[in-house]
Amino acid sequence: MQLRGSCHCGAVRFRVESAHPYPFMRCYCSICRKTAGAGGFAINLSADCRTLRIAGKKHIAVYRALMPDAAGGRRTRSAGRRHFCQRCGSPLWLWDPNWPDLVHPHASAIDTKLPQPPEHTHIMLGSKANWVEVHRQRRDQLFRQYPRESIAQWHRRLGLEKSDERGRTTLRK
Ligand SMILES: [Zn+2]
Repeated sequence: MQLRGSCHCGAVRFRVESAHPYPFMRCYCSICRKTAGAGGFAINLSADCRTLRIAGKKHIAVYRALMPDAAGGRRTRSAGRRHFCQRCGSPLWLWDPNWPDLVHPHASAIDTKLPQPPEHTHIMLGSKANWVEVHRQRRDQLFRQYPRESIAQWHRRLGLEKSDERGRTTLRK
């Protein structure tokens, strides 16, 4: 389905095709919480980067977080490019050069009516702030870090993958 999105002030608008538009994945990591998550988490979608069309590109700024390495000593730049509007601060999407075909819009930036997920995946709970309450529903899955199941695989398991206009299923690795 086509997703249309925008920042709050309207300087940036975009549209992108997504076969996996259910907003089921809640990320509680400190980067998502501080840059995109007033409720303590951000909701990431997955879409086809080749179809991304942007109006107001010049208003977009990119943030690359500094991450401590496993040993806790040196910090390295995250590969993930967090795109946001530099006029109003709205988080827009994340793009990672390790998966260049994908773009991950924040559900909060999407204006298209998104389908309600039948279950949720809560990730990076190891980084959750202590004041954040996890609203766990019956079928939800919880992870300290990342789940093995990708956003695409979640949609396939639940039979929710959206087909393209030819009726062919858009399968992406
Ligand atoms: Zn804006």
